[in-house]
Amino acid sequence: MRDTSWMGNGNCRNLPPDLFFPTDGAGVEVAKRICEGCPVLDICLDYAIENHVDHGVWGGESERSRRRIARQRRVHLRSKQSLRDL
Ligand code: SF4
Repeated sequence: MRDTSWMGNGNCRNLPPDLFFPTDGAGVEVAKRICEGCPVLDICLDYAIENHVDHGVWGGESERSRRRIARQRRVHLRSKQSLRDL
């Protein structure tokens, strides 16, 4: 498991965790606004994707959005590997 000390530097560090596990789209937008400009946004997003975190808003992205990003990363990685095999 990766180091999680970065969590102490997030915009959410003093907010209730429930805010980041919304039950509707309006809640997702609230969480995403808090994430805007977060100093550890990229680390948070990578953490959630690499650890297959299925629920909540992480790195300013919803579950659905993270699945899309993860898919794009896999496609990108495969195409890089294919180019290397040429
Ligand atoms: S990106 Fe969002 S969820 Fe992640 S640490 Fe920052 S404020 Fe918290």
